[in-house]
Formats: sequence, C-alpha cells, structure tokens
Amino acid sequence: MENPKLYSLPKLNYDYKDMVPYISEEQLRIHHQKHHQAYVNGANAIFKKLDKARKEGADIDVKSTLKELSFNIGGHVLHSLFWGNLAPAGKGGKFGGALADSINKEFGSFERFKKEFSQAAASVEGSGWAALSFSEQIQRPLIMQIEKHNMEVYPAFKILMVLDVFEHAYYIDYKNDRAKFIEAFWNIVNWDEVSRRMER
Ligand code: MN
Repeated sequence: MENPKLYSLPKLNYDYKDMVPYISEEQLRIHHQKHHQAYVNGANAIFKKLDKARKEGADIDVKSTLKELSFNIGGHVLHSLFWGNLAPAGKGGKFGGALADSINKEFGSFERFKKEFSQAAASVEGSGWAALSFSEQIQRPLIMQIEKHNMEVYPAFKILMVLDVFEHAYYIDYKNDRAKFIEAFWNIVNWDEVSRRMER
C-alpha cells in the first residue's frame, strides 16, 4: 500500500512584490516557485521511487537515495523556515523580549550578533545557509553554518532563523555580491516569528 502523503510547496504570508527593494518580485517568485518547488518535487519523487521498490521487492542504492532524500527534504524544510522568518520591511516587529535578552547575553550586543551572523553567511563555502539556533539544554543561542542543505546541523537543536546564501537566492538582484544581499536581509527579518520559534 502506497503512502499517499507527500510534501507540498507552502504558500507565502506575503506577496512576491512585498520585499522590494531588498528582494525583487522576480527573484522571490523564481526562488519560491522554481527552486523551492524543485526540492519538494525531488523529495516526493524519491518517496515514490521507494514506494515502488518496496512494493516490487526491488533493490535500491540506499546510500545515494538517502543522501538525495536528505538534500531535498533539507532544502524544503530550510526554505519553509526562511520564508517564515522574512517579513516586508517594517512589518516584522521589533527585535526584543526574551530573544533579545538571550542574544544580548550571548553576543554582548545586537550589533555583535549581526556581525557574526553576517560573517557566517558570507563565508559559507559554495552553497548553503547561515542559521541561528538554540540549545535548550544550556539555554544558549548559537550560529550554525549549513553547507548545501544538510551538513553541520546540530541534531534536534531548534532553528530560530535562517538565511539562504545559495546564489539562486540573490543572483537576479545582486549578481555575485552575496555581502550586499546579506546586508539587505536585515531589513526584512520577521523578528516576531523568530521570537515565537524560541518560545515554542
Ligand atoms: Mn534557496
């Protein structure tokens, strides 16, 4: 019996044009409808392949299949987190509350956190992500650098905020100038959502 449950592309909580001038309508649309959709399709195709092989009792290349599945699911989950921690400029609330207390305690100041997070994003080798994470055990926020979609993640650590630095996230607007895109990102952070993720 095939499991009919598959991934689907989540809707955005804003319009494609709402991130202008930080992300253009064309860039955001392509990123969401083409790139994110490709990870959804990729993961679903692998599930279908697995379903079929299991039904037929056929062999599969487990190692490469699992690697590909993890890449695609990682892409889907990270993009979903990314869209959620973006908000049109002025609509994402304020950096404050328990999140700000925690960040200020860990990094000394918001400016210091911003600098370290931006440097993490800028120095990802090739394609990847910068992520703000949180260790519940020691109640400390920490920055992760994720290569591609699935490396260097601390298992089960909550992810509060991510920034996509795959070139597909910014090439239309910024060409190869990743630093300029990272600087723009700080204008469209949804701090309310980042706070909610910490409190959850
Ligand atoms: Mn992306």
